[in-house]
Amino acid sequence: ESPEGRKMLELRRSLPAYKEKDALLTAISRNQVVIISGETGCGKTTQIPQFILESEIEAVRGAVCSIICTQPRRISAMSVSERVASERGEKLGESVGYKVRLEGMKGRDTRLLFCTTGILLRRLLVDRNLKGVTHVIVDEIHERGMNEDFLLIVLKDLLPRRPELRLILMSATLDSELFSSYFGRAQIIHVPGFTYPVRTHFLEDVLEITGCRLTPYNQIDDYGQEKMWKMSKQAPRKRKSQIASVVEDALKAADFNGPGAILVFMTGWDDINSLKEKLHANPLLGDSSRVLLLACHGSMASSEQRLIFDEPEDGVRKIVLATNIAETSITINDVVFVLDCGKAKETSYDALNNTPCLLPSWISKVSAQQRRGRAGRVQPGECYHLYPRCVYDAFAEYQLPEILRTPLQSLCLQIKSLNLGSISEFLSRALQSPELLAVQNAIEYLKIIGALDENENLTVLGRYLTMLPVEPKLGKMLLVGAILNCLDPVLTIVSGLSVRDPFLTPFDKKDLAEAAKSQFSRDYSDHLALVRAYEGWKVAERDFAGYDYCWKNFLSAQSMKAIDSLRKEFFSLLRDTDLVDANTTTHNAWSYDEHLIRAVICYGLYPGICSVVHNEKSFLLKTMEDGQVLLYSNSVNAREPKIPYPWLVFNEKIKVNSVFLRDSTAVSDSMLLLFGGSFSKGTLDGHLTMLGGYLEFFMKPAIAE
Ligand code: ADP
Ligand code: MG
Repeated sequence: ESPEGRKMLELRRSLPAYKEKDALLTAISRNQVVIISGETGCGKTTQIPQFILESEIEAVRGAVCSIICTQPRRISAMSVSERVASERGEKLGESVGYKVRLEGMKGRDTRLLFCTTGILLRRLLVDRNLKGVTHVIVDEIHERGMNEDFLLIVLKDLLPRRPELRLILMSATLDSELFSSYFGRAQIIHVPGFTYPVRTHFLEDVLEITGCRLTPYNQIDDYGQEKMWKMSKQAPRKRKSQIASVVEDALKAADFNGPGAILVFMTGWDDINSLKEKLHANPLLGDSSRVLLLACHGSMASSEQRLIFDEPEDGVRKIVLATNIAETSITINDVVFVLDCGKAKETSYDALNNTPCLLPSWISKVSAQQRRGRAGRVQPGECYHLYPRCVYDAFAEYQLPEILRTPLQSLCLQIKSLNLGSISEFLSRALQSPELLAVQNAIEYLKIIGALDENENLTVLGRYLTMLPVEPKLGKMLLVGAILNCLDPVLTIVSGLSVRDPFLTPFDKKDLAEAAKSQFSRDYSDHLALVRAYEGWKVAERDFAGYDYCWKNFLSAQSMKAIDSLRKEFFSLLRDTDLVDANTTTHNAWSYDEHLIRAVICYGLYPGICSVVHNEKSFLLKTMEDGQVLLYSNSVNAREPKIPYPWLVFNEKIKVNSVFLRDSTAVSDSMLLLFGGSFSKGTLDGHLTMLGGYLEFFMKPAIAE
């Protein structure tokens, strides 16, 4: 054993989970389901899978054991597997591996596999009994992601068929009772936590300490905003970059004495970006070479996400601007200070109007604790909550589970592809069941797009859609793009819709950015504008001028690269279907008939349609469910005075205050009739009826007037 090896072993033994090792292993051998709860940092994720692996090796079952540990996110699956492999003094891909969409590292001798929940669900698709798997560990179940809740129903069904299979559920907080009773009063083991002390400050403390100006949120309204303003002696700034302003002030005001990285929790890409810009214009410490500013959010390439783990040179302060993807699981070694803006972008779902909503909203107490827990993992830390304590006290204990606040189309399709019987019966067995109306909306949608037949069975189209790891509407575009041999632009569109919007709109250069985007537009389509922007980037990239090109055109180089790699992935997945000829490359699948692409977009996005109603000066948009809707200002169609088409198809609508449409393409009546819905016979009638309904609906007001 090497000295490093011994040191590592010592470190592992000092973790709280180690003390519970025997109790844990005994419980796991005696019970089919065990629930483990323990504070962040106690060693659940990195140690417990290893305990199981080691005890299997000791029991001479090393060669036959197969342990799968799911993580809610790609970044945790990858970083945790790296850590565990290094703790074992191995390279990744020996006994420990990982698998996430697009990437993996797994060898013949891999016995412990960290993967995303999505990967395990896909495996269940082809291997419903998880043949050969001895242990399934579902980590971070307290997060209540939709995939995890779904997986638990599937596993609950599987347990009686696989009596020797062990299921271990791990959770950071003490909501264990709910899970225990779901699995027939399963045994709970609690691991007492150890973390280094984290000093906690709330907004009022920061103000007190520094006597500084710190901009509070407008939204603090209900919680004594006025008082906060008085304390800060400053009027609130404009709403848009508010979170960025609050954080900027805090970064300047707080007393970060001593070295250590700063981890800042923000709501999303827009406020991260806007803070980055502010700090560019007005660098901290007066000198940008002494600050290493990094971002971490879900739509970044994983190679770029990983940069947050690197340590900077001496004397350089690392600042990581992250969304809540950095909230759980991961340990950034050098983090000493955490700044928590108190908000996260949370999706909710209005089943009555069948509309998803996305609003930055206050986080839960559990989230705030998790954020705080990112400090104090390897050394003492400090956490600044940038809101008053009274706001914290008003936070909900837990966040609403995702299954109750998201449209369920993809989930319903998955239920069908796994042959799990009636959708509503299946979902009624969830930990917390979604509203019946939400389920009905999803089934109705799948019928309209032709993925399910009248009896809720998968159609041929539906079966193909389950092979593609994208939303059904995007899957439809890929499939029909392959059939019509115009895959190249369609791959760009679908990839572009799967990553962060490549068209950037910095707040202070909004007009310039929107004008830059409209250069790519000739045909009332954001999707076609994206295709042109990507093609231009491709050409520039060949001359090593990709960055320049992006800079000039307000495009995200990161998104462009992500599109590039997703295109390859989708293409290889399509090759696995029988729709793409093995000799086809994306290049010779190239075809650029604008009308054809428009039809493919229409085929995919239907029934996401709204009608264009012209008046004298401009036009109004209406959908049947929402009445008037608006375009995001960065849509090329928002800049057009008139749209010479009767319909727009859109890929997403979101209720913010009004209902907004993101990315739209104009289509004609005949295109909608022929390409809306599905090609399959039977539904053609259906969508003719639907279109009839639409026409009638929008004719009425005209007649009444
Ligand atoms: P839990 O899952 O219970 O929150 P983890 O197993 O992730 O805890 O981490 C346990 C401890 O192992 C951490 O508190 C930290 O001390 C150490 N640790 C985990 N990952 C790393 C890493 N990448 N580098 C250094 N130490 C780490
Ligand atoms: Mg963990």
